[in-house]
Order: sequence, then C-alpha cells, then structure tokens
Amino acid sequence: MESVFTKIIRRELPARIEYEDEEIIAIHDICPVAPVHILIIPKKLIPTVNDAADDDAVLLGKMILVAKKVAAQKGIAEQGYRLIINVGKDGGQTVFHLHMHLIGGKSLPFETA
Ligand code: 5GP
Repeated sequence: MESVFTKIIRRELPARIEYEDEEIIAIHDICPVAPVHILIIPKKLIPTVNDAADDDAVLLGKMILVAKKVAAQKGIAEQGYRLIINVGKDGGQTVFHLHMHLIGGKSLPFETA
C-alpha cells in the first residue's frame, strides 16, 4: 500500500530533499524533534522491517551509509547523532514505508520510547 513517502518520491507532494540517488531519498521530517531530523527512505516500498527480504540487505546497508553522508553534510558527524527505525504499531511506526530517522544537532537524552 502506498504512503505519503511514495507521493514524495514521485514529486506528487513537496518535501525538503537533503539527498537523493537512484535507490534512496533523504528528506527533512515535517515535524522535527531536534535541530536535525531527516528521514532516510528507500524508494522501494518495503512497509516495515518485518517485510524486508534477504535481497534487501545491500539496500538496508546503504541507508546507514546515506545517513552517515547526510550527517557529515549537516555538520553533526563529529558530535554524534541517533539513527532510529520504528517497526509496527508498538514500535511507534506511523508511516508504513520503511524509513530511518537521523536525529541530532543537540545532546539527546537516552530514551527507550
Ligand atoms: P514513524 O513514526 O513512522 O517512524 O515516522 C514517520 C515520520 O514521518 C514522522 O516523524 C512524521 O513527522 C514524518 N512525516 C509524516 N508525514 C510527513 C510528510 O508529509 N512529510 C515529511 N517530510 N515528513 C512526514
């Protein structure tokens, strides 16, 4: 099922794009929780981590490498940042198109939720 991210990938909805290549797009979160809050989104529609297949291993790895690149681009690589993937209802996932949050630009408290 398509999500708001599919529409953003197709340019049917606007977004602040920080990075894009053939497989991945990185956009600024519409509701940031920190000075830097960027979503790393594979263009392939994988609803949740539970739906990822062995064949997606390289793509999933690339998401981390894109996060690293974007963190450097935003000048927060040295201070550090947090990468989060919410999975399913209890994990707090609200958009069912796999994505990774890159959050930083301030000291982040340890949280489990
Ligand atoms: P989740 O809760 O699924 O892990 O994260 C979904 C994220 O997508 C939320 O942080 C939310 O603010 C963000 N989001 C939802 N709709 C939009 C949108 O239309 N544009 C952008 N840029 N971010 C969105």
